[in-house]
Amino acid sequence: MMILLDRVTKIYGKDNPAALNRVSLHIEPKEFVIIVGTSGAGKSTLLKLLTREEKPTNGKIVVGGIDYDTLKDKNIPLLRRKIGVVFQDFKLLPQRTVFENVAFALEIAGMSNSEIKHTVPKVIELVGLKGKEKQFPNSLSGGERQRVAIARAVVRQPKILIADEPTGNLDPKHSWDIVRLLEKINRYGTTVLLTTHNQDIVNKLKRRVITIDEGKIIADIAQGNYRQGEA
Ligand code: ADP
Repeated sequence: MMILLDRVTKIYGKDNPAALNRVSLHIEPKEFVIIVGTSGAGKSTLLKLLTREEKPTNGKIVVGGIDYDTLKDKNIPLLRRKIGVVFQDFKLLPQRTVFENVAFALEIAGMSNSEIKHTVPKVIELVGLKGKEKQFPNSLSGGERQRVAIARAVVRQPKILIADEPTGNLDPKHSWDIVRLLEKINRYGTTVLLTTHNQDIVNKLKRRVITIDEGKIIADIAQGNYRQGEA
């Protein structure tokens, strides 16, 4: 799905400076984009506008042909199905097993038990957690917990995966495992938007990097020839 922002401004409250200031952006289907910027730059605001957790004060947002100006509240769940999200702090359900955490996303979508039993193991295998289905989150490493969160985010096959600082709580090795997993999901055709403070990841990934500062895009750079060797 194409992502288009045209001069999008977001001002929280009345007297605050703009969290996003006339941001225009164009992201092609299946791109892998890294978003960087210091704390308070506006990264989360941008992501929340895409998931419709926040509405812009001004400007136009169109995602996959859906114009947010005309998007009705009753259609927001449909939009959210197309956008998976993972966070730094995983947000898993502690009383549920790995399997149940992933299945939960399908249960609330009204999927039948037999479909769930068919779908969940495939996704658990995709993220490399086969054999851990019955474990609870507190028995997993941080990297494994993030894999569960990613499994849950992609189990309904979203077109876009938003990963908001997914490696923020992980050591370097686990961080790279997660980044590699995001690349794999991207290769299967999902747009990935990754925010990170990890300069090593930014440098080594050789992907498009958008830098936000004080609510503006101050750089948008396609690093290297990252398209080579990709499907
Ligand atoms: P980042 O994700 O890059 O750290 P944010 O998008 O969270 O940046 O924040 C951008 C600016 O908007 C900051 O000045 C922040 O304080 C402000 N902001 C974010 N969310 C809210 C909110 N719900 N209410 C008021 N101000 C907010």
